[in-house]
Amino acid sequence: MLTEYKVNSIKNLLVYNRAVYFFMLLSSLISRISELTLNSVIMYYYVVVPALIIVFDRFLFFGRLKKLDSQDEFPYTFMRVRTCIYVFLFSAGGAIDIIPASLLVPLFLCLVYIYLQDILFCDRFDSFNSCLFISITLYMANFLLFLKYRTMINGIWKFGLTASFLVVVIVCCILYLVISGIIRNLNERYKDILFKYGDIKEENEKLISVAEKVERINSEINFQRINLARVNDDLAESNHESRSLIGVMKFFSSSFDIEKNAKVMLDNIMKVKNAKAVGMYISENVYMNKEPFTYINAEDETTEQLLGEELEKVYKLVVDAESTEPTEICINREYKYPILSGIGILNAVAFPAYENDDLYGVMVVISGKYDFFINGYAFYETSVMDFTSALISDRLYLKTEEMAKKDGLTKIYNRIYFNHFYGDLKRQVLSDGDKLTVAMMDIDHFKNVNDTYGHLVGDEVIKTVASIDDKYADRFNGTAVRFGGEEFLLILRGIGIDEAYNILKEMHDEIESTVVEYEDLKVCVNTSMGVASYKDTCGNIEELVDLADKAMYYSKTHGRGMIVIDGQYEDDLSEG
Ligand code: GH3
Ligand code: MG
Ligand code: MG
Repeated sequence: MLTEYKVNSIKNLLVYNRAVYFFMLLSSLISRISELTLNSVIMYYYVVVPALIIVFDRFLFFGRLKKLDSQDEFPYTFMRVRTCIYVFLFSAGGAIDIIPASLLVPLFLCLVYIYLQDILFCDRFDSFNSCLFISITLYMANFLLFLKYRTMINGIWKFGLTASFLVVVIVCCILYLVISGIIRNLNERYKDILFKYGDIKEENEKLISVAEKVERINSEINFQRINLARVNDDLAESNHESRSLIGVMKFFSSSFDIEKNAKVMLDNIMKVKNAKAVGMYISENVYMNKEPFTYINAEDETTEQLLGEELEKVYKLVVDAESTEPTEICINREYKYPILSGIGILNAVAFPAYENDDLYGVMVVISGKYDFFINGYAFYETSVMDFTSALISDRLYLKTEEMAKKDGLTKIYNRIYFNHFYGDLKRQVLSDGDKLTVAMMDIDHFKNVNDTYGHLVGDEVIKTVASIDDKYADRFNGTAVRFGGEEFLLILRGIGIDEAYNILKEMHDEIESTVVEYEDLKVCVNTSMGVASYKDTCGNIEELVDLADKAMYYSKTHGRGMIVIDGQYEDDLSEG
């Protein structure tokens, strides 16, 4: 490609060329007007030739130069031919007529200018050819002048003139070679400088791009640093959460109290997360609970009360949502469901508690802070999941414990449990100064039932009597026990003999009037009952069961089907 410098020089040259041609034109006109040139023909010649050259340059030369940017090679031959034509045309003027002195100076300057032009641009290895070419043209131009004047000049002058032409040509050649050599040298240096400049420019660009990269990396590092700090904070927080969860899990593993577990979990969430309130709702019959369990931990009593009123609604909302995902009730003051709005909160999310595919409860977390759940729900979901697995194992334990306590046939407490429980009960009654009434009953002639209808019917009778016993225990906060094969206890705490008698009478009558149906059989039974009451009938609590048994025995030996009160059966019998 041509250097930018060369292209620009050529373009500037066009402007200089025009100035030179106008200078030639102007000098011809001035020379004629001032009558320095009397010959009109020569004057016209020097007016027409530069004008033609301008036109030629404008359309042909400039037309070519316009495309220089896309040319690989400089149009040397074109330049050279152009230079020769111009030189020839200017010099040839002399052949028309004598060139007046007034025109010689501009003519000479023009020739020098054209000549220098060629040196400047034809600076290649073939400069000698160029020099020869131009010199021959000059020689021929001068020769034309010589031909013009040959009639006037003779002898030694002819020789002198010819010799002077030759000298001019030789001097031109030498000048050409020297100047083109210098220019070539300068060109090389210029190229070197350009090359180095290019290198420096390239280095500079590289440096700039490296600096930009460094800056970019720097800002990236800064960004990463901020991120890292945030990640560090998150890590510290999740570490704290994990440790707290481990603590809760430890508690779960040592406790079989589901309600206490729920409380510990909620208290932990309050402590770790600084929530405004957390609430837990467990629907009925999930563990051995007959009523739904609710527990709330809140930062103030008003919130606790309001959440307590809405907790069941939250559970129903989660039931309707039928999703295992958390239900977002309110996120950053934007309510998605119209509940909990009276509490004045910014965030509230309900976490469903699932056991396999069954929803058994909900935990709700509420907060008065913006972006409270920004780090997601993992901690809360893990808490609920941990609680669920603790609940499953606790329930299994409770069920096993319950099974050990209860009789397989009647599902009321068995004798083993009674032995354990009755010791504690006696101690509590004594320390509270409470009343305690024990009734023992035995089905009359039960052997006959077995013998007459079979053991399955006998079992059905035992179950019916036990369930009536259990019903009265429930009603009066007492305890029903299967004491033996067809012997039962009803233990009533805080109830004296009079009140107990009425209760037992009602129960006794109910048993008597109950018809046990088994397939197409109908069986009725009666019972003998003995009652003893601390401190109404006896002062020693240790003798209570024994005395009830003795009273019951009295009924057995005195006709059966009676309720016998301890201490009263010797002189005063009460028949049922
Ligand atoms: P009474 O008490 O009135 O003196 O007469 P009884 O016929 O009830 O006499 P007893 O107490 O001797 O008989 C109790 C019977 O209960 C003996 C036993 O076979 C029967 N029995 C004990 N446990 C069960 C049981 O779980 N199922 C059935 N079908 N029978 C039982
Ligand atoms: Mg019996
Ligand atoms: Mg018996």
